[in-house]
Amino acid sequence: MSVFTDPDFDDHEQVVFCSDAASGLKAVIAIHNCRRGPALGGCRMWAYGSEQDAIRDALRLSRGMTYKSAMARLPLGGGKSVVIGDPQRDKSRALLEALARAVDRLGGRYIVAEDSGTSVADMQLMRHFTPHVAGVEERVTADGVISGDPSPATAYGVLVGIRAAVKARLGRDDLAGVRIALQGVGHVGLALARRLEAAGARLWITDVRRDALSRAAHELDATVVEPDAIFGLDVDLFAPCALGAVIDDRSLPQLRAAIVAGAANNQLAEARHDAELFRRGILYAPDYVINAGGIIDIHYERTGYDHAAVKRHIEGIQDSLTEIFHRSREQQRPTGEIADRMAEELF
Ligand code: NAD
Repeated sequence: MSVFTDPDFDDHEQVVFCSDAASGLKAVIAIHNCRRGPALGGCRMWAYGSEQDAIRDALRLSRGMTYKSAMARLPLGGGKSVVIGDPQRDKSRALLEALARAVDRLGGRYIVAEDSGTSVADMQLMRHFTPHVAGVEERVTADGVISGDPSPATAYGVLVGIRAAVKARLGRDDLAGVRIALQGVGHVGLALARRLEAAGARLWITDVRRDALSRAAHELDATVVEPDAIFGLDVDLFAPCALGAVIDDRSLPQLRAAIVAGAANNQLAEARHDAELFRRGILYAPDYVINAGGIIDIHYERTGYDHAAVKRHIEGIQDSLTEIFHRSREQQRPTGEIADRMAEELF
């Protein structure tokens, strides 16, 4: 088992192994970079195939958080925690308490939030044992009372980003009649679809969960397609809002869209797909730039929630993307590469 020689190790400041025999906790907390501020990042609980897989996930995801927060101009660094175990079977009050105490021992250098396998309720429980928890406050948004759920803010940021991409690639100031294929109508995808529909876009939607899909189809004026059919549609924009690694050697040649812009994390299976999208003239909105609305929202929860300030900050995603698209055109380099260089100037 290796850390320093792992390909995903990127001079991380601190990697902490946490264990608690009584509750069965086995976790890794990775702090990539704290130059901009404390490392904020979610806690993922997953039945990893091996300890090395868990370490690698923590290293990769914490690095991604540094880039995301830097590009969103937040006073935050990048961190992430992973718990080895099946959340359905292994998650308990005692395990969450042990994890919270491990987070607390870091004295605020790492701030935990929810991620896959953990919930807002888990964070509320952990709050009893450490103040270094984010994404737990109830607040009233335009859509009703939301318990720390950052998805509506993420969806708003993606909408703003889609507007920037449509302007850059199609030369259009509005979304009326713009054809959009949206993959995944979960928390973010459905909220985004509602906003796109309100803006006049034409939608094609898909999801592997039949219940989620029929709920969305019932509510929206959208064409429903099978999951595999979403890539090859004759549309202007493909919006991945499901899983990561969706742009790969299989899906990429099928794409007919001129733009890829959506909420999913780690959309590119490999870094080389950034160059391949560029080569094919498909404008890619780098995922960690366009989907930063959620982390911006969580940040304001910690510093004092102010709707107008959150909205303004999220709207900055448009400026960041416009700058990335501009530099990409000027330098004839892929947008993902340009975004990485810009983020690195900021931390
Ligand atoms: P979610 O689980 O609520 O929704 C994802 C949806 O995608 C589900 O309905 C799922 O059934 C569907 N799906 C899974 N595989 C699919 C496939 N192959 N084809 C079609 N549909 C598929 O998750 P979410 O919170 O909406 O997040 C969506 C994506 O955005 C994730 O990649 C997440 O990491 C990313 N993201 C979310 C936030 C947030 O605020 N929730 C913030 C930043 C990034």
